[in-house]
Amino acid sequence: MCSSIETCPRVGNGYDVHALKEGLPMRLCGVDIPSAKGFVAHSDGDVAIHALCDALLGAAALGDIGLHFPDSDPRYKGIDSTKLLEEVVGMITGEADQTYRIVNVDITIALQEPKLRPHIDLMRQTLASVMNIDKSQVSVKATTTERLGFVGRGEGCEVWASAMIVPVTVR
Ligand code: MG
Repeated sequence: MCSSIETCPRVGNGYDVHALKEGLPMRLCGVDIPSAKGFVAHSDGDVAIHALCDALLGAAALGDIGLHFPDSDPRYKGIDSTKLLEEVVGMITGEADQTYRIVNVDITIALQEPKLRPHIDLMRQTLASVMNIDKSQVSVKATTTERLGFVGRGEGCEVWASAMIVPVTVR
């Protein structure tokens, strides 16, 4: 048990959706996925990393991804989302008034196709190395929506993420 609120673990959640379009690239959790459709986006469209960034920022009450990386800013056009995740991890674990350690993250990707199972291991490994944590601290899960809704019709991809962080210093 944590003895005071300043030392307690903190939880955050994140959610993101991107539309799918024929002929565009699909990247999820930093991994290129062979697919007939890919993401319509200002960045590389890595909807899983965007949800994860929001979960981490939420755990630290540091706002959201749109606040830190506005899609009106040309600097973020086509950006590799692993760079955004690196920056978010830096805000949370780097030099700041309050710094944290990442305990674990958990991601659920809803996508009708393709099947993501063959890519899950590399996704976990990729996220772990970007966040400088162990693969055992990173969970990535995938589901279809049984052909229901916009995900089921192949119009988009929906992602939920959770993150737990624990304070390491109070300066
Ligand atoms: Mg997004």
